[in-house]
Amino acid sequence: MKAFFAPWVLPVCQPPIANAVVVVDDEGILKYVGDRNQMPACDVEQSFPNHAILPGLVNAHTHLEFSNLKKPLGNPGIEFTQWIAKVVGYRRDQQHTDQSKHQIIQSGIQESLSHGVVAIGEIATSPVQSSHYSNNGGCLLSVFEETLGADKGDYDTKIAKLESNLQHLKTANTIPGLSPHAPYSVPLELLQRIVRVAEKNQTTVAMHIAETLDEREFIAKRSGRLVEMLEQFGVWRPNMYPTNDSVLKILKTLARAQRSLVIHGNYLTDEELDFVRSVKQRMSIVFCARTHAFFGHLDYPMAEILERGINLAVGTDSRASNPDLNLMNELKEIRRRFPDVSAETILRMGTIHGASALGIADRVGTLECGRAGQMCFARLSDPNDPYSFLIKSQPQEK
Ligand SMILES: [Zn+2]
Repeated sequence: MKAFFAPWVLPVCQPPIANAVVVVDDEGILKYVGDRNQMPACDVEQSFPNHAILPGLVNAHTHLEFSNLKKPLGNPGIEFTQWIAKVVGYRRDQQHTDQSKHQIIQSGIQESLSHGVVAIGEIATSPVQSSHYSNNGGCLLSVFEETLGADKGDYDTKIAKLESNLQHLKTANTIPGLSPHAPYSVPLELLQRIVRVAEKNQTTVAMHIAETLDEREFIAKRSGRLVEMLEQFGVWRPNMYPTNDSVLKILKTLARAQRSLVIHGNYLTDEELDFVRSVKQRMSIVFCARTHAFFGHLDYPMAEILERGINLAVGTDSRASNPDLNLMNELKEIRRRFPDVSAETILRMGTIHGASALGIADRVGTLECGRAGQMCFARLSDPNDPYSFLIKSQPQEK
């Protein structure tokens, strides 16, 4: 048995405990979370002064294939379609071998683990190789195979491939899911077919929705910068996109899956958020705070989402729009930008909300006895304040 001491333990499923200890057995299972007086006998003891012990964090949305990028593609404030063009160009130039792609994904998993992240919602470019996700160091991976598609002739093949991959990807630490990319790259008909696969296989679906105002224009009028972008890529098929499409219709389609994630949701209206509230037991929203800032989006509808009791999780998105995969930095960014949101709520977003969004709340997101003892050790800036790990430390003076 091994004991971890800290001035604060925040189990999330109960209030913070001062001068506390977490005990883990030799198999790594949590045996005790509480004050020091009643702890069981341990043969190893380790102290973390100036730290809070939290449940391992959950990064509900990223794309690990970009984990080798030293900095985001483009400069802050880049227009979204220009950024997509850079992503497409980057993918074309890289032409990774299977070996190098494996290494890049592994480096993203290792980076995440080093920052106390124990579960990841990963969007994986099709075709997904299960070998890329082996040796995940105990990190729980929800791997959503991404689908893009404008050509109706391909749909049967795409769907058959998705169905067979769902079976191949499943391991003890890998949970397969589906990701129709976005409304401008996946026509409603293809989305409906993907959701049917999800219903049949009881899998989770993750889709980028209402990420930009251009996307809203695309859905409502089939015009604007995203149409121009698709034309430039030679994949614009106007007759594939119904004239009576709407964000609400897309959300309603997605909601048929047993569980779904609305990635970003930066520009959801009150009516759409009301719909998400009506299905909040099975639909979550994922906020990627620093990516939101990178693109210079308008204010995020944080209050509107939280007042509806919608499950809001947090993601880093990829290193193509974010400097790192450190989920704690996202939580600090949220603390800084939304001072009215309680620190407790922000911690829940990075733990139990992410776990619920990914359907793994029975395994991660809280410190509960009987679970794997995966923890995040967060440095406190004020030892009297259990949530002071959320305050961005000032750069050291020279
Ligand atoms: Zn994304």
